[in-house]
Amino acid sequence: MSIEVKNLLKVYGDQKAVNNISFKVNKGEIVGFLGPNGAGKSTTMKIITGYLEQTGGSAYVCGQNISENPLEAKKKIGYLAELNALYYEMYVREYLRFITELHGIRNKKTKVEEVIALTGLTVESKKKIGQLSKGYKQRVGLAAALIHDPEVLILDEPTSGLDPNQIIEIRDVIKNQGLNKTVLFSSHILQEVEAICDRVIIINKGEIVADDKLSNLRNRSSSNVVKVNFKEPVDNNLLQNLSEATSARSDEANNWLFETDNPEQLRKQILELSLQHNLNIVSLQSESKSLEDVFRSLTQKAE
Ligand code: ADP
Repeated sequence: MSIEVKNLLKVYGDQKAVNNISFKVNKGEIVGFLGPNGAGKSTTMKIITGYLEQTGGSAYVCGQNISENPLEAKKKIGYLAELNALYYEMYVREYLRFITELHGIRNKKTKVEEVIALTGLTVESKKKIGQLSKGYKQRVGLAAALIHDPEVLILDEPTSGLDPNQIIEIRDVIKNQGLNKTVLFSSHILQEVEAICDRVIIINKGEIVADDKLSNLRNRSSSNVVKVNFKEPVDNNLLQNLSEATSARSDEANNWLFETDNPEQLRKQILELSLQHNLNIVSLQSESKSLEDVFRSLTQKAE
């Protein structure tokens, strides 16, 4: 097991930022840690990497308890923090050499050149870090996280704030690293996770609401959405509380989207209601939920 989190708890004042969560990441897996802003992703990652003390529970990296053996555990980890703090006055090579010294790496020059090539930094490698674009600064952060060849990579929102081209480039670096490392990376964007990995842990309000392969999450989304388009606006009160619907929402164009465990009964209920109240239905159809809908329903449940 490369990462193991057991009953992890972090309390700030009266808020449980991380509420008794447990999960495992196997050797060689790339796992997406997905959740809306404020869900508890960074807090969890800071605890796993030993930058923050938990209130309860434990975290292990390659079998080492991060609280009991922080030095041993940290040797195994490459960490890209959400706020990728870099020394802007340093040159790229100078900074990476400094990181090799922190790690006590012997073949410093070779290692620096290796990670520069690996992260696609070569063309910008003669500049000061402060002169680089955000995408290249992120590559420097990744290079620093990779330089001691860690077994486990923990990346906190590695593509946040990058433009679409930079996002694709950083994703490729992560995917390549995933070939021989264990990677846990966080994101609040579902598409991001879909593009990089096949297993996802979804966290919401400090609690894990799903831990599964994306393909299984897709299967959960079997045909349980009913879409109705009405000719005219319909009174919200009529449609908000249908007994067969678990949720209902509408848009400006008189489209209503219902979630249900029983699409057939719900369709019947909508038709009966429309007859009673003289509502003109333009179209009514059942369809599969998208993965986006699954994510949304998992992370909006308690609101
Ligand atoms: P995420 O990374 O998923 O966006 P965080 O782990 O950063 O979420 O934050 C989880 C929750 O904990 C948020 O509500 C945040 O405001 C709160 N939080 C994080 N750090 C602190 C702190 N140092 N003091 C108080 N509350 C905090």
